[in-house]
Amino acid sequence: MRPNPFHEAQKQFDWVADKLALERPLKMKLREPQKFISFWVRIRLDNRRRAKFRAFRSQYNNALGPFKGGIRFHPHETADTIRALSAWMTWKCALTGLPLGGGKGGIICNPKKLSDGELERLSKQYAKKLAKHIGPFKDIPAPDVYTNSQTMAWMLESYEQKTKKSSPGTFTGKPVELGGHEGRSGATGLGVVITIREALTYLKMNPKKSTAIIQGFGNVGQYAAKHLEELGVKIIGYSDSSGAIYNPKGIKYKEAQDYKKNNKSLKGFKGAKALTNEELLTQKCDILIPAALENVITDVNAKHVKAKIIAEGANGPTTTKADDILFKRGIFMIPDLLCNAGGVVGSYFEWVQNNTGENWTLEKYNKNLNNTLTTAFKTVVDMYKNDGEINMRQSAYIVAVKRVASAMRLRGR
Ligand code: NAD
Repeated sequence: MRPNPFHEAQKQFDWVADKLALERPLKMKLREPQKFISFWVRIRLDNRRRAKFRAFRSQYNNALGPFKGGIRFHPHETADTIRALSAWMTWKCALTGLPLGGGKGGIICNPKKLSDGELERLSKQYAKKLAKHIGPFKDIPAPDVYTNSQTMAWMLESYEQKTKKSSPGTFTGKPVELGGHEGRSGATGLGVVITIREALTYLKMNPKKSTAIIQGFGNVGQYAAKHLEELGVKIIGYSDSSGAIYNPKGIKYKEAQDYKKNNKSLKGFKGAKALTNEELLTQKCDILIPAALENVITDVNAKHVKAKIIAEGANGPTTTKADDILFKRGIFMIPDLLCNAGGVVGSYFEWVQNNTGENWTLEKYNKNLNNTLTTAFKTVVDMYKNDGEINMRQSAYIVAVKRVASAMRLRGR
């Protein structure tokens, strides 16, 4: 059975709380979300029947700034997954030095089985019901798994109708026409590759002689593939929810993307061997990028992973037991807090522009993204190197939790 993601997040936090000798009341406060909202969203389906969907928003911590985090539509969504993701957002914002706290939301639904009209009604109802809890200086949602800029556009419209004011800074990851930034959709994938570039330099590996495997071919996976190819890395395997494709000679990102666009999945892609998702994770490669969902690298398969670097494009893809195994085996981990932080850093840039009326060029946006992530990588790797006994995830946690704990103390919470 897969571990509960929130228990995993708490285990990771407990370790660092003890390492930092956090005072007990502070530790207890930082182990749980400040507020967890659970509600039903009711909509009319196209067949005129009514349906209700369970929905959540977890507001984990706002000591550093407004709650910030995506909204997920997924049939296997759970309250505890949302809790875990909101904790990780808190640490991620702190690690990258953003003046933002952490949150996350979701709806238990299967978006693949809903029409555009049904998705629009679902998104609008969700934002309407949540309106009093969110806002540009309160809680700022963004897209996540199976949601996108269109979802944000629907939610913004509904929020503004309800509050009767224009408020683009309430959501990030919006379409460019509604105050979004052209850099945002690719920011997470680009960020993943910036951290991989830094890791390759640190490990003295040549990108042009390195190979990569990517699990998950959505927003994060596809942009990561594009930028990895630009860096000279050869991608030899991809997967999506339909299965995996693998060719040690390399599979061009554009060919995989065109195939996925035309066929809705990677299944049946010519010029590569079909594997299961599980098999793909243990193929020989230099860089393994889990960019789909939680708990995919476990104590069962961690022993068989052959990569030298794991770059966590997804949130929480590695269990704590697997983490120990990988560390002992000398596999270099770029933890999710750092690896996929490009998304929230890019969201922060969008939010700053919405609140100041500025309009950055793509060049400025990507340059600032590069600077922020390179600095965060250096901070984490320096602590990891100097300590000598901790792994990269523990190092990232120490940096992040220290900052949130300090903000909590300064506020007298
Ligand atoms: P997405 O919906 O665009 O893509 C998800 C991909 O994962 C799809 O290709 C899907 O087919 C695939 N997938 C689903 N189940 C799978 C399975 N069992 N095995 C293999 N592939 C599977 O989502 P995304 O935005 O790319 O998010 C992916 C991960 O990255 C999530 O963990 C998310 O929380 C994290 N993340 C996303 C962002 C962002 O800006 N989008 C930012 C930070 C972290």
